[in-house]
Amino acid sequence: MRAFALDRAGSSVEALGLGGASVSADAHVRSPVQYLAGGTTLFDLMKLQVMHPERLVDISGLRAEHGRIADLEDGLWLGALVRMSEAESNPSVARDYPAIRDALWQAASPQLRNMATLGGNVLQRTRCNYFRDISYHACNKRDPGTGCAAMEGCNRRLAVLGTSTACIANYPGDFAIALVALGAEVNLLSVDGRERVLPFEDLHRLPGETPHIETNLARGDLITGFTVPAGAWTRRSRYVKVRDRASYDFALASAAVALDLDGDTVRAVRIGLGGIAAKPWRAHQAEAMLVGRRLDEASARDAAEIALAGAVPHGEAAFKIELGRRTLVRALLETRTMELPA
Ligand SMILES: Cc1cc2nc3c(=O)[nH]c(=O)nc-3n(C[C@H](O)[C@H](O)[C@H](O)COP(=O)(O)OP(=O)(O)OC[C@H]3O[C@@H](n4cnc5c(N)ncnc54)[C@H](O)[C@@H]3O)c2cc1C
Repeated sequence: MRAFALDRAGSSVEALGLGGASVSADAHVRSPVQYLAGGTTLFDLMKLQVMHPERLVDISGLRAEHGRIADLEDGLWLGALVRMSEAESNPSVARDYPAIRDALWQAASPQLRNMATLGGNVLQRTRCNYFRDISYHACNKRDPGTGCAAMEGCNRRLAVLGTSTACIANYPGDFAIALVALGAEVNLLSVDGRERVLPFEDLHRLPGETPHIETNLARGDLITGFTVPAGAWTRRSRYVKVRDRASYDFALASAAVALDLDGDTVRAVRIGLGGIAAKPWRAHQAEAMLVGRRLDEASARDAAEIALAGAVPHGEAAFKIELGRRTLVRALLETRTMELPA
């Protein structure tokens, strides 16, 4: 690990002043200044020499400003510095937004969730081995223009949706899949002090020709939190995660589903897919097809076919197309019959 300077921010204004000049809008990899929250992604990647910032701006002291969970009149507020473990054990989250709780408690380990923040979580980076191991030369995400070793390599865990000829890395996180399904927004502070709100679905970018540009954050943007709108579907929501081992593992495929039912008929549905896509994936077309239909195995399977219709198989990852479909079918059927929290 290389030497770096550490600043502790006492306020958001101070953080933006310290970080804003050079926190890169595009490539975290090459940015010389990084915000430091829980450090569970950042220090990992610094030790691997994938990220080598010269300066860290520690924002963990801003919990009074951005570490709150609050019930809003029309939704839920999750501060960016809330720890994953705090959100997963919050009674409002568990009762009214169970997909969020499910996504959090199935992530990482209890120790990591006690350190990791929600803001840092959504900005975690791919677990593609060719990205994380600098002894591989070819990684367009790490070093633009070098190629993609994963294309012909060990790519079993990588993406089948949203990939490009430059990159087939998948987005690995869980919480973001619940957020994208529930139509959340991400709240930002710009370096000029302006507050901005983005649909969460627009936070991450598809790789295209520029896989090193992972988000639509502007230079120095600080994530302050997330707003999750309450809907008739949020209480009947669930996150299903399929992985190689039952705990402490990233998703091979996952699905977040939120349902509003009239008997067995779908009034409204929200679907997010994870593990199989280049970014947190919302399955809008599958949702539209289900509205007004009776939710059963046949319609769930139809929805899954639509959701994965654009999937492109890459080597060992081809099995993820069918796995993704089955994960969504399971999530839809389990959400239909789930017991609603009291
Ligand atoms: C062994 C292991 C297993 C894991 N398993 C899972 C899993 O199964 N599922 C899952 O979802 N995750 C998993 N993770 C990822 C883990 O959840 C993330 O590392 C963690 O949530 C990141 O949060 P952090 O606060 O530590 O972020 P940090 O490491 O502090 O920051 C991560 C990035 O976000 C930026 N950042 C942080 N906060 C802000 C902010 N407020 N505004 C702007 N930029 C910010 C930082 O500059 C940095 O680039 C695992 C991690 C490890 C190490």
